[in-house]
Amino acid sequence: MWIGIDDTDSPAGMCTTYIGAVLVRRLARAGIRVVDARLVRLNPNVIHKTRGNAAVCIEAEGDVEAAFALTCACVEELAEFDAAETNPGVVVSEIRLPPDFYYAALRDFCNVGEAVEVLESVGARYRGYKNRRGLIGATAAVASDFPDWTYELLAYRKRENWGTRRQVDRESLFLAEKTTYPHTWDTVDQENDVVVCVPHTPDPVLFGIRGESPAWIRKARSYVRSEEQACEQVYTTNQGTDAHLVPGKIGELREGRSYLVRGMVAGFPTTGPGGHVSFSLEDDGVEVRCMAYEPTKGFRDVARALVPGDVVVMAGSYKGESLNLEKLGVCRLAEAVRIRPPVCPACGKRMTSAGAAKGYKCRVCGARSREPEVERQERLIRPGWYEVPPTARRHLARPLARGVPAWQQVLCD
Ligand code: ATP
Repeated sequence: MWIGIDDTDSPAGMCTTYIGAVLVRRLARAGIRVVDARLVRLNPNVIHKTRGNAAVCIEAEGDVEAAFALTCACVEELAEFDAAETNPGVVVSEIRLPPDFYYAALRDFCNVGEAVEVLESVGARYRGYKNRRGLIGATAAVASDFPDWTYELLAYRKRENWGTRRQVDRESLFLAEKTTYPHTWDTVDQENDVVVCVPHTPDPVLFGIRGESPAWIRKARSYVRSEEQACEQVYTTNQGTDAHLVPGKIGELREGRSYLVRGMVAGFPTTGPGGHVSFSLEDDGVEVRCMAYEPTKGFRDVARALVPGDVVVMAGSYKGESLNLEKLGVCRLAEAVRIRPPVCPACGKRMTSAGAAKGYKCRVCGARSREPEVERQERLIRPGWYEVPPTARRHLARPLARGVPAWQQVLCD
């Protein structure tokens, strides 16, 4: 059977993955064999998310009625029912749902009616609390299909420590990253000297280690020194896979979806208030604004190094009519040239324009020239892929340390 839960937390506390971890233990104690625990990230652009739009799916074998009762009891005991925006959903299905609903919730927007229709069609057991919105994520989790996946080990805090400052030794996290990267990633951000894997929100998570296999994340975890933890859970996850991205075409992008788009840089990047960098990308005469926001730190230098004529592919969500960049591939660099009036051969002063299509004139000696000075500028970037730093990375975004999948590379060739 597949057990799905979602929408159990609020900004003030709790985390659906924690309830998943507790449930895994309660199921095992009840004689229900847990085969896999999945942390399923859904469309990062939904407005109702608390933090990272996560849902949980537990694959298990045993008494279905008992599993449903245990799951509902666990959610009723632990979910933040008092929070206005918390609307839990529980699903248990003996039939593997087709992945369509998962892909819709991952890349698009869904409603409760659509989720219920899917659940009814397979005779799944389900319970939606309050406005039942959590049924969307719970159904998507049960329907989830991971053609590519990674792992995350989540360590949880003892209840008496919830809401207090987390005690996790910083040096041990840097050592964990140094020893196990690129098999694990995003424990820390070396370049920006920041710890990434320890949240600052008042939920039960102590830290999370992401990586390519349970063995590697456990190895990284073995270096971490921290306050005593309550328990930990290794999740199989679609994090770090780019599962949210689909190929997109400028002019046909839809709000709140995430794309990989090929185009030509159409104007020099500019840095606006707050340090956000923006530039236009063009394809077939249609343009879209691309944004590299301030939190993407050094990635903005890559954006700033682009010039008109560069052929690139851009990955990111289309929001507020701009593509918010997660990574970019430089396919072909244009020649960057600076054109300006020549220096007067007679007196060494720089000439000025003599008027439209009239060439240049020396204001000192009156000499004339038709040709401007063309200066080839050295390019500061090379063809290849560039990404935002770990501090700015979205859960679903695939780190370059994992390589670039063929369908993305093809767009850049
Ligand atoms: P956390 O990750 O910390 O557990 P969260 O960020 O996952 O919290 P939720 O509290 O689960 O946020 O809220 C997300 C809500 O959005 C859920 O009710 C979920 O069912 C719903 N939802 C998820 N994906 C979609 C989608 N594609 N369209 C519409 N609603 C969605």
